[in-house]
This record gives sequence, structure tokens and C-alpha cells, in this order.
Amino acid sequence: MVQYVYAFGDGGRDMADLLGGKGANLAEMTRLGLPVPPGFTVTTEACRAYLATGAEPDGLAEEIDAHRAALERRAGRRLGQADDPLLLSVRSGARFSMPGMMETILDIGLTDDSVRGLAKASGSERFAWDSYRRLLQMYGSTVMGVDTALFEGALARLKDSRGVPDDLHLDAADLARLVETYKGVIRAETGRDFPQDPAEQLRRSVHAVFASWNGDRARLYRRRERIPDDLGTAVTVQRMVFGNLGPDSGSGVAFTRDPATGRRGPYGDYLPNAQGEDVVAGIRNTVPLTDLERLDPVSYARLRAHLRTLETHYRDLCDVEFTIEHGTLWMLQTRVGKRTAEAAFTLAVELADEGLITPDEALARVSGDGLARLMFPRFDASAVGEALAHGIPASPGAAVGAVVFDSAEAVRRAGAGEKVVLVRQETTPDDLPGMVAAEAVLTSRGGKTSHAAVVARGMGKVCVCGAERLDVDVRERRFTAGGVTVHEGTVVSVDGSEGAVYAGALPLVDSAVMRYFRTGERSGGLVDAVARALRQADHTRRLEVRANADTPEDAERARRFGAEGIGLCRTEHMFLGDRRHLVEAMILARTDADRARALDALLPLQRRDFVGILRAMDGLPVTIRLLDPPLHEFLPDRTELAVRVAAAEAHGTPPSAHDAELLAAVNRMHEENPMLGLRGVRLGLVAPGLVAMQVRAIAEAVVRRTEAGGDPRAEIMVPLIDTVEELRLVRAEVEQVLAEVSEASGVAVRCPVGTMIELPRAALTAGRIAEQAEFFSFGTNDLTQTTWGFSRDDVEAAFFSAYLDKGIFTVSPFETIDPEGVGRLVRIAVAEGRAARPGLKIGVCGEHGGDPESVRFFHTAGLDYVSCSPFRVPVARLEAGRAALSGTDTSDSR
Ligand code: ADP
Ligand code: MG
Ligand code: MG
Repeated sequence: MVQYVYAFGDGGRDMADLLGGKGANLAEMTRLGLPVPPGFTVTTEACRAYLATGAEPDGLAEEIDAHRAALERRAGRRLGQADDPLLLSVRSGARFSMPGMMETILDIGLTDDSVRGLAKASGSERFAWDSYRRLLQMYGSTVMGVDTALFEGALARLKDSRGVPDDLHLDAADLARLVETYKGVIRAETGRDFPQDPAEQLRRSVHAVFASWNGDRARLYRRRERIPDDLGTAVTVQRMVFGNLGPDSGSGVAFTRDPATGRRGPYGDYLPNAQGEDVVAGIRNTVPLTDLERLDPVSYARLRAHLRTLETHYRDLCDVEFTIEHGTLWMLQTRVGKRTAEAAFTLAVELADEGLITPDEALARVSGDGLARLMFPRFDASAVGEALAHGIPASPGAAVGAVVFDSAEAVRRAGAGEKVVLVRQETTPDDLPGMVAAEAVLTSRGGKTSHAAVVARGMGKVCVCGAERLDVDVRERRFTAGGVTVHEGTVVSVDGSEGAVYAGALPLVDSAVMRYFRTGERSGGLVDAVARALRQADHTRRLEVRANADTPEDAERARRFGAEGIGLCRTEHMFLGDRRHLVEAMILARTDADRARALDALLPLQRRDFVGILRAMDGLPVTIRLLDPPLHEFLPDRTELAVRVAAAEAHGTPPSAHDAELLAAVNRMHEENPMLGLRGVRLGLVAPGLVAMQVRAIAEAVVRRTEAGGDPRAEIMVPLIDTVEELRLVRAEVEQVLAEVSEASGVAVRCPVGTMIELPRAALTAGRIAEQAEFFSFGTNDLTQTTWGFSRDDVEAAFFSAYLDKGIFTVSPFETIDPEGVGRLVRIAVAEGRAARPGLKIGVCGEHGGDPESVRFFHTAGLDYVSCSPFRVPVARLEAGRAALSGTDTSDSR
């Protein structure tokens, strides 16, 4: 029979698939001997069964009963026992942490009877009624579906009528009254009473947590974090401990190191006389963890010892939730903690220095996405004036946007293309869509572990929280800060690294990491950590990393960023600007002599381009692609031209002969589907002399560089091949020109000739094509367009967001390579190409070459190199290194 329930003592961290991260880690802490309130976890398998059928799987109820009975025996009292009740929490916890996205219900077991028993047993009437009202609210909303706002409204009205600032000032009688109000709300909203049977409370809470897996918030979060929808959540049932029993009690969140910077030393927030939920909700402002040393030195020392134990055991930054009940410390949760990109790099290097992890493991702990984030610009310190307000720097980076005050407005404006900053007193999980849409999140309350901070960090969004000087008025849609009033729509700048917000849009400058790449300047611990991670990646990786670069400047930059050559040098821009009239002349040429004249005029210009690029990349390969786009892209716009001609005719003046001729040519060359029309190799085959001119320019540039003592390594790449016949013809022409130039110059010009693989037919006949190609380079952009039948410019705007919403794909195939379809073509072409020509050099030059997940795919597919934009080169180096780590888990730590 399937086992659906595991006591903490029977689980462990390696069982996260079944017990969820929370359940598995609670079990692990129990086994480590840390003080964890006893409990058990219902598996994700039970959840999946429940969600599939709408009913509990057979045997689950009995298993839960047996484990509950064991808890009762251990505690010496029964769940909800009238004179001294055992109380339980029911907690959600999936394989991947989804903070605050699903439900937790505390204080299960309280009833009209047992609330009095709890008051007696604890010696505190106030505590008992406070616990009961919390249960009514959580159960009422989560299990019975009552809108939480109704409970919050009732609480706010009570506080108003009693004239108190927060719930701590409500006494037992107030809270007992609130309980009656809440029960009334539940009855009015659902037509049913809050259940007085503790066993029913437990059973229905477990079901509600199962169901919360499919709540809107949870789904949105999963889509964003790319967590599969079919995992389900585990449910942990645990004996309650109480942080709200008075000043010698409290709850907190702690990290073994600072999750924003990675700096050593425990770090966190503490809230005296509170349940854990209050800390995360940011309802009251917390105190720094270090204050606990003064408030309760014994618990503080214990907590530090436990944090050390956990960090050594997990060999990584951990975060924990803890509660102190009358001076006794209890550990309620731990996990390998989320962190900013900056912290990830700093930490990984430090843990390796401390000998806790190997350099390879350190590499596995950082990511290309994180590195890309560290390359984003910062505010220019010299332009920064006085801040409107300061808060806690909860998630670093610089963001500029218009202030908005609720999630819906953030979504609306962002949808219209505006950059926005979401400003709230504190955020709740309901604000998630707005946080996704915003550039930055700014709150007036809550600490580094508040909802806003945790979620923003997870998403890599800029966040400043707890900016107490802000007086946020959501109703009037404005905030004031030290006498300044800022209305909705006003632009502000948020500095998540310094924890400050400024009026207006501040200018941006390079980040320290970007400066390092550009100039080599080492400016501190973070840059050092990045440099070391990259060194390790370069040492580990098998993939070469090249850059896509079309100019000498780009080529130089790419080299500084670590590129080992150019994988794609496009030649089309070399035909634009003031050279355009030469292209026009070539297209309009009536005779061979006219055409030759136009091409001859282009030749020296092209040659100069290539000389510059080959000089910048001296000693490294430069793959030059022959002209690719349809020729009409170099001609004037058809409509404009037609209007000009028509206007002239309307004025009774004949249009200029040139215009008339151009219009005729443009009309002749008009295509319905230019992407699938006369372009790439097709153009080279029908436009006489074009290929020869380009190849001659390349070959003569090689000669000049060689004669200048350089080491030019040009490679000639033919675009958009469908069949080997096309390549055979072009190649013959190329070889002919190379031979002529060699002969004329006395310098032996040897340029490998290869092809792009960017059409499905080419991939499927790669074996034949390899007979003629000395290298392959996958053009994954066109290959994705033609494999899916997507015209990128049309589909992305038209319906991709709908496709993402419907879950047809979780990421655009133009962003991350589609491994099943496009990837399959890549694998076929690699296998058949290499079978026909052993040692065939194979790379990729589509934008996917700089996408972390795609880089990993290309590594496994056996490519020799990836090529990407110069700015992505460090990202690709890092990911290529991570891809080569065998047997190390390089999935992002979420
Ligand atoms: P989340 O996944 O959103 O962090 P949790 O399951 O951790 O939700 O529950 C939220 C809070 O409830 C915790 O921070 C913790 O303080 C409190 N809590 C949960 N279980 C217990 C318990 N057995 N005793 C006391 N507090 C609890
Ligand atoms: Mg928690
Ligand atoms: Mg292409």
C-alpha cells in the first residue's frame, strides 16, 4: 500500500519531491537534533490524487488519524481537548519554495469550549482569544472562502472604536468580541457555522491546502518561476508553539548570512510577542535580529549555534523561521535561502574559501541570469541629490518609473508600455501581478524578510521596504515624504542597493561589474567574486564562446568581454547609409558593365570594413556571413516612393526618371513574404557578381592583414542553405575568387567555407551538406521561425502572451531554444554532419547563444561554440562552464 504520511523522524532532505521542501527540511532538522515541534507531513502524492479526483485517496484519513493520535500521546492531551487543548498548524509546502503563495492555517483545535481551556492552561485570556480570532480568520478565508477583507475590516473598525493603533492594544474582552463578530461574518457569508469539531477542522484544512496549489496566486508564481503545474503540494501538520504569549515570546526570521549582499554573520528580523505570520505580513515593524541578544541572550546564543549547524550541514546560506515561547526556542522552518545575484557570487566564493564547498560547486551556485543582472546600470552617484525617503535596501538595482498605488494600475500601465514603481504600505500575495509588472517595489513598512522583500528578491526586482518616512495614501493615490507630496503617475527613481527613493529620473552609469568588463578595473569583493567564478568557468567549459559583432568597435568590446572570436559578422549594415546609392545602382543596372561598376565601387569599402574587423580580432576566427536579407531592404520604401511619384504626376510634372525607375524595381522585387523570399544564398545565386565582390573584399583584406604581419582568420559563411546544390555552386565561386586573389597577391588565402543551418531541410540533409561545408553554424532564430511556422515579428506581439497564459509554452521559443522540436533538428544535424565529416566544427550564432538554458542545451548537443552579442559573452562563458560540471545540480536554487 502507498504511504501517504511521514512523521518528521522518518523523512529527510532528500525526500523533497514527496514531502515538499518544508516537510523535508523539518524532517532533516529533527534528525539533526534541532528543537522542532513534532509533526508529520502528508505527501505531494496524496495532493495529486486529491486534485485529480476531488476526493482523498483511500487510506489517507486513517493514516492521518494514526499520526494525530501519536502526537496526542506525545503531548499528553488531545486535539482541541476542552480543558487543555493540543493545537496544530496545517502548512503548505511544495518541492520548490513558493513563499506565501499557498495557505497555512494556525491554531487548529480551538472551539468555543477549548478556547476557555487554553485561557486557563496558558494563564492568559488575551492570548486564548487572540489565537481563536486568528484561527477564525485563516480558516474562514482559506477553507470556507470568506473574503479576508471582511475580517480585516472588522478588526480595523474595532481598533478605531477602541482608539488603539494596533492589535497589541486590544484586550481579552475586545478579542472575545471580535471572535463573535468573525463567527457572524462566517455565518452570514457561507450560511454555515464555523465547525466546532476539531477533527473536521483538521480534515478540511488539509483539503484546503491541497486546493491552494491551484489558487490564482500560486499559478501565476509558478508560471513566472517556471515551476511545473503538476507537482502538487505537501501538507505539514505540526504542534503549535506560541510566540504571542507575552514579552518573553516572539517570532522571527533569520539568515545565516545577509541574503542581499552575501556578507557573513547572522541576519534577520525579530518581532516580540507575535506569531510568525505577523513578521512576514509586515503589520508591525520588526527589530533587527541582533536586538534579540539583549532581549533574550540565551535564545539568541542557541539560535546562532543552530544557524551554524545548518550552514555547515547544508553547506549553503540557509534561512529559518523560529518562534520563542516563554524563553524556549523552536525552529519552524529552514531552507537553502533565496539570495540576490550579488549575494550569490559573494557567498559562493566565500564558502569555497572556507573549504565548505569546492570551486566547481561554487560555480554551480551562481548563474548567468544573475551575472546579467549585475551588469545592469546603477544610478550616477554624482547626480544624486537629496532622497525623498530612505528604507531598507531589500533587493538591489536601479529603477525609474511612474508611481502607482495598486496592483491593477501597475498591470494596466505596464501593459501600455509604461515603466512603473509599485508603492504600498506593505504587499500581500494579492499584489503579485503588480509586482511582476513593476520595475520596482517600494513599501513604507516591513523588514528585509517582509513579503515585498522576499518576493522582489526572488524575481530580481528592485525593492526598498520599510521606508517609514513615506505616508502612503492609497485611496487618494499619493504619498507624502517629509512635506513633499507625490501623486500617481509621477516619476521616481528607486535605488535598491542603497535603499533610497528620489524624485524624478536619475541618470544611470555602469555597474561595478560592467566597469570591470570594460576596463579591467577591480573595485571590491563583488567584482573579485565575479572574476573568480568566470575563471573557474573558463577552466571548466568545453564550449568556446564567440561574439556576434559587425564592426571593429564591437569586435574590440567582445574581446574585452572574453570572446574567442566572432561567430557571426553580418555584412548587411555595410550596405546602408551613404553606400545605399551604390546598392541601388547595382540593382538598377541594365548592363553587366553598369553592375560591375557599382560592385567595383562597393569593393574597397567592404574591404576596409573587413580589414578593421580582422585587425580587432587578430589571431581569432572571424566568421563572415555573406549578404543575407532580401535586397529590397536596401531600397526606398515602396509606399513613400509611390506617393512621391503620384504627387509629381498630380502636379502635372513628370516624376524624375530615377524615381520612376526605382519604383518599377521596387514593385518588381516586392514580396508577400520576404522572410521566405529572395534572400540569403538565393540572392547570391541570382544577383551576378555579388558573392564574388564580397569574397574578393574578404580575401584582399586577409592579404592586407597578412602583409601587415597580422594573423587574420576569416571564415566565409553562406546563409539560408536548403540543399547541398546551392552550397556547391556558391562554394565553387568562392574558391575561384580565393584562388585568383592568392595568385594575384602571392599570399595563399585559406578561408574555410561553411554554412548556416537555419532551415529544417538543411538540418534534415545535414549529411549531404557537410560534404561541401567545412563548418556549420545554427541560425536558431530562422530555424525557430521556420520549424514552428512563426513569423517572429508578427507572432510575438499578436498572441504569444495568450500562448504563455494558456501554458502552451512556458517560455518563448525565441528566448530559450525549444529542445523537442528545434533542438531535435539541431541534434540530427550534428549527428549526420559529423558522420559525414568527422571533426566538423559546429556552432550557433542565433540569439539563443547567449541564453543560459539554451547554452546548456548546446553543450549537451555537442556543439563546439556558441556566439552571442558582446554583452552576453560573460553570461555565456559562465553558463558554458556550469554546463560542463558533471553530476552537479546547476538548476537555480529556488
Ligand atoms: P509559508 O510557506 O508561507 O512560509 P508557513 O507554513 O511557514 O508558510 O507558515 C507561516 C507562519 O506560520 C510561519 O512563519 C510560522 O511562524 C507560523 N507557523 C506555522 N506553523 C507553526 C507552528 N506549528 N507553531 C507556531 N507557528 C507556526
Ligand atoms: Mg514559512
Ligand atoms: Mg538567418
